[in-house]
Amino acid sequence: MFYGIRRFMSQTICIANQKGGVGKTTTSVNLAAALASLARKVLLVDCDPQANATTGVGVDKAGLEKTLYHVLIGDTPAARAVIQTPVKNLSILPSRVELSGFEVEMVDEPGKEKLLAAVLAPVRNDYDYVILDCPPSLTLLTINAMAAADSILIPLQSEFYALEGLGQLLQTVRRIKQSLNPPLKIAGILLTMFDQRTNLSNQVTEDAENHFADLVFKTRIPRNVRLGEAPSFGLPILLYDPASAGSKSYMALARELIKRDQG
Ligand code: ADP
Ligand code: MG
Repeated sequence: MFYGIRRFMSQTICIANQKGGVGKTTTSVNLAAALASLARKVLLVDCDPQANATTGVGVDKAGLEKTLYHVLIGDTPAARAVIQTPVKNLSILPSRVELSGFEVEMVDEPGKEKLLAAVLAPVRNDYDYVILDCPPSLTLLTINAMAAADSILIPLQSEFYALEGLGQLLQTVRRIKQSLNPPLKIAGILLTMFDQRTNLSNQVTEDAENHFADLVFKTRIPRNVRLGEAPSFGLPILLYDPASAGSKSYMALARELIKRDQG
């Protein structure tokens, strides 16, 4: 790789929301693939023991020798566990169910919140973007992701209770800024599973914009069946159905993010 043409500094973005099913993994996989298609070098890090991001980019978990778990416990350097995905410019640091042991095993470990930051340090500058897919919790793995990130992107599902729990999430972000990672920023709030025809989706948008103003991405991710189907084929939407509304929306998000970073 010719580093002379690098456009800006490496950005590590943590995709977090302690609610399950709001589109964290869908956003991680498809934003990562969209950025990669725009000639950015991207590393996707699967911080969820459920490993949906790992399967979502077509990695066969059974065939993996080393995963994020081995990297976090100091058994393997990150570079040895990173694998190339079928998508050009997109690599993944995969996970598997053993990662669920991390939270328990690290209880008494000093500096346990900064382990991910430490293990990613030697590799993060090899990438334009490092995308961290978080589990649906505010426990040690998510705290590690927030402590390792430059910014946090919060997907909000366009449904009635969308903003509930957001206070707790923002409280955690504040706590992490105070203690572990002072420069941590909010990259933005992303409305997912958006349905323009419903008052509810529009109401959630209005509430989010009232609370967070410019932090809400202009791009909204529509509810799109093709986005729901793609993971079962182990493909980002960009390869599964590039013409779909879901694919176009993640491309638009990638462009909006790059534009923000440049501006
Ligand atoms: P999380 O990682 O926050 O738990 P996921 O990204 O796994 O959420 O999404 C939850 C479910 O909703 C998955 O089955 C996923 O395929 C589906 N999904 C996510 N985003 C969309 C969307 N925009 N349109 C349709 N289905 C979606
Ligand atoms: Mg997920």
